[in-house]
Amino acid sequence: MPHESVMTSELDFGKPQEACGVVGIFGDNRSTNVASLCYLGLYALQHRGQESAGMVTSDGKNLWLDKGPGLVPDVFNQEHIDRLPGHAAIGHVRLATDKDRHVVNTQPLVVRSTFGSLAIAQNGSLVNGGDLKKGLLDAGAVLQTDTDSEIVLNLIAKSKQKDLPGAVAEILKLLKGAYALVILSENMLLAARDPLGNRPLSLGRLDEGYIVASESCAVANLGGELLREVQPGELLVLDQSGYYTHTLLPSDRKALCAFEHIYFARPDSRLGGQNAYLVRKAIGRELALESVVEADVVIGAPDSGISPALGFAEAAGIPFETGVIKNRYVGRAFLQPTQARRDLTVRIKLNPIAEVLDGKRVAVIDDSIVRGTTSGKLIGLLREAGAREVHMYVASPPYRYPCFYGIEPSSKNELVARGRTVEELRSFIGANSLQYVSLEGLARALEIPKEELCLACFTGDYPVSATDGCKKASKRL
Ligand code: SF4
Repeated sequence: MPHESVMTSELDFGKPQEACGVVGIFGDNRSTNVASLCYLGLYALQHRGQESAGMVTSDGKNLWLDKGPGLVPDVFNQEHIDRLPGHAAIGHVRLATDKDRHVVNTQPLVVRSTFGSLAIAQNGSLVNGGDLKKGLLDAGAVLQTDTDSEIVLNLIAKSKQKDLPGAVAEILKLLKGAYALVILSENMLLAARDPLGNRPLSLGRLDEGYIVASESCAVANLGGELLREVQPGELLVLDQSGYYTHTLLPSDRKALCAFEHIYFARPDSRLGGQNAYLVRKAIGRELALESVVEADVVIGAPDSGISPALGFAEAAGIPFETGVIKNRYVGRAFLQPTQARRDLTVRIKLNPIAEVLDGKRVAVIDDSIVRGTTSGKLIGLLREAGAREVHMYVASPPYRYPCFYGIEPSSKNELVARGRTVEELRSFIGANSLQYVSLEGLARALEIPKEELCLACFTGDYPVSATDGCKKASKRL
């Protein structure tokens, strides 16, 4: 089966990269077969990871696993889905980094333990994963992957608690960092969200049972009803009786990743009580209220710059146009690690419409500037298409600090805004002017107090200590 296919997110190499998406479904009765539902759930979360996909089902007696590299429809065809029996399932889509692309890290992971067979899938990253791993290795554990999920599984397997929910609740107290976890045994599904609420996780009702998913768009795509978001610190148990909260870990603060709303989440998803598309439009309005230049036309950098561009155009009273077309079908073969290939990739991927841009003063809205290379190339393409002036507006504050919670890049050396003033950045990307939304404007648009958001990549104020995470990141460089 071919596993090389369209890697849309990989094409967004100038953007922060999400690490994963998870799904869990527990059917109301044992005759329900949920593999095809889980497949559709993963399909809805494809934007969160394109490197690999995997699914584990339970028929009440055994766990059944299938996973592989590539997009969801590359990994699973009907034959594969038919070979996954059962009324409960978890699934995972993954975006590996260059440093941990090894196939052994593909999730879900499955082990046998004193609690029976267990499968796990995770989104996020533990900042104390290195310490926990060292403790396990010192005690003689044998690990096969580089994942935090395997650490969590090993800790659960060592627990002396009498049942699985008790063991998971005990282990969650040891974890520091950002995570949304789904764990499947023969007869129950557990879902946990980190006490900061950094990683999103939603709970929904389907005709055939209950679903948890990284984003609410997966619930909607399956025709389900969104019940609520899994609370920060909550351990949910889903079984034959429905669902219940087993544990609610306390936390001094919340810290939803601001980039979920800015870029990662699908525009039709709800996070922190807000719809991502409307939030992006509101960020665009804030940008226009904070500073607006004379421009003839507003365009969005496809795709996630388009929603803020609509809000910007509305607030500034400047016409919105589609100025650049994105080719969504550029294959992996273009992504060779040479500068010439990368330049060609941008050209193939983005094509400006000269008839819209020629002779115009253009305000272009993008969601973020990470390495700066893509922004510079986009501005070059707009000028080649005849734009007289190009004014860049960015729907996030300058990205100056690495993320230790599972978002790439995790190296400060890759961040173009680090150590540069906005004027230096403007000069670097070749814009006539450059304006970022303020932290205050961003928080206003999200309608979430700054204190309840993670803004660490803009401020350096990390909601949980990144000491161990720093070690992990530097080791990987
Ligand atoms: S540091 Fe930035 S990318 Fe990482 S979780 Fe916080 S807001 Fe999100």
